Amino acid sequence: MTAENALFVAILTLAAGFFALNVQRLVHYVRLGFPEPRHDRPAARLWNVLTVGIAQTKILRDPVAGLMHATIFWGFMVLTAGTVEILVQGVFPAFGFDDVLPHALFVPYSLSQDVFAVFVLGAVGFAFFRRLVLHPKRLEGDDLEHWDALFILGMIAGLMVTLLLSGAFLGVARPVLLGPEKFITRGLGTAFAGMSPEAAWTGFRASWWAHALLILFFLNYLPYSKHLHVFTSLINVFFSNTNWKGERATMRAMDLEAEGVEQFGAADVEHLSWKNLLDGYTCTECGRCTAACPANITGKVLSPRKIVVNTRQRLMEKAPVVTNDHMDFSRSRLVHGEGGDAGTTTTAAVLENRLLDNYITEEELWACTSCRACVQECPVSIDQLDVINQLRRNLVLMESRFPEEVQPAFESLERNGSPWAFSPTDRAAWAEGMSIPTMAEALEQGRRPDVLFWVGCMGSFDDRAKKITVAFARILKAAKIDFAILGQEEHCHVDPARRLGNEYLYQMLAKDTIGTLDRY
Ligand code: SF4
Ligand code: SF4
Repeated sequence: MTAENALFVAILTLAAGFFALNVQRLVHYVRLGFPEPRHDRPAARLWNVLTVGIAQTKILRDPVAGLMHATIFWGFMVLTAGTVEILVQGVFPAFGFDDVLPHALFVPYSLSQDVFAVFVLGAVGFAFFRRLVLHPKRLEGDDLEHWDALFILGMIAGLMVTLLLSGAFLGVARPVLLGPEKFITRGLGTAFAGMSPEAAWTGFRASWWAHALLILFFLNYLPYSKHLHVFTSLINVFFSNTNWKGERATMRAMDLEAEGVEQFGAADVEHLSWKNLLDGYTCTECGRCTAACPANITGKVLSPRKIVVNTRQRLMEKAPVVTNDHMDFSRSRLVHGEGGDAGTTTTAAVLENRLLDNYITEEELWACTSCRACVQECPVSIDQLDVINQLRRNLVLMESRFPEEVQPAFESLERNGSPWAFSPTDRAAWAEGMSIPTMAEALEQGRRPDVLFWVGCMGSFDDRAKKITVAFARILKAAKIDFAILGQEEHCHVDPARRLGNEYLYQMLAKDTIGTLDRY
């Protein structure tokens, strides 16, 4: 082994060791979240990885920025094969994929390395132009830092340039080592045609070392950057909601009667699931969620991007303390980013802080309409609304904190079975004179109607909606459909209370409705 090899092995071992240490720390932090099984439906999960993750279907909804990002992502996937070859060559200089791959496979592999290096370089150039000149709105706001993104882009550009340069020098120093498929690096090599083979070899070794060191630095910088998503996004997509039919907007189930449970909803990161915390690692800060958020668009303080980033910030602030992680030197860098009270210096202050209030305010939480546009838009399948819902549950169930406008709705739901203060005795007033039986009346007559017409609160009490209810009932009659209504036995399905965090009220009235339906 030469001194150069020995030096590379030492650097590689240090870099791999430091990277493994950081991965272990990040896994440790994520495990602060409560356990949640997400291994069901493996085929659907793999399909999500293939479509959302690898084919970048969500990213490509924005054709220009999407193509730019997808080119960098696909380039990374292709160039990773070349990275493996380069790192192995650092240890065993005689190694090359041409020795292990059949010629028919090696040629496309070799060609792909050149072609994708150029594609990625072009995409990175456009990314610089976009950030520095075009300033797209969704990359602004929320006190976003740009230097991290620019630094990463600079490193990717450096990786591509050193890769192409090393090929170009090699083409001059050892022309027989480059096949005809390397037409790009051969073409670049014409710029060094006047060099002696020895000087070109020195140029090759210098660019090879620069490339290899950049790879190892990049690897170890990622855990300290928002570009951690390079490692976590495919994993996050695999474990994301599988969005089965009929479950698209299902809220997390909650057992209010579970023994020993003292915390309902979330006030801090350890009350969230490990997947919520992994979402934080995966956020690319692209702003697609915030750009689609109706609350944000109409000037409210809510930004779903900030919800996710601040969840990550809080995790990075608290996790080192509660896991007894002494690598505190890295903590201040890990909590970079948007808003929040990051940067606490004493352990007591860290433990005094919490996600709710210090990082995410009540005002932000109550601005959310639960529309799920953010979830729909996120290219790495983050569920921002799940965090909002869990924080709201804590506000309502644990701390009785909610806007005063909500109080009458909760009271009315409890007393009248509708969010408005209408008397339940008037629920079927729209049906007067229409000879529409209730289920109870039909049962008394020994009949079981084919259809139960669930009218709903709007259809029962709102003057405009009541006209629709009457018209629909007339259509059912004209079509000679055997139907009935619940009448005064019907009440609100209580989804509004659930979305507002009042799971207790929701479950109470939902169970009542299930009991009513079970009777028929
Ligand atoms: S669910 Fe809430 S945070 Fe997400 S887009 Fe809708 S209003 Fe915004
Ligand atoms: S949560 Fe998703 S959509 Fe929003 S900024 Fe992060 S990666 Fe982008």
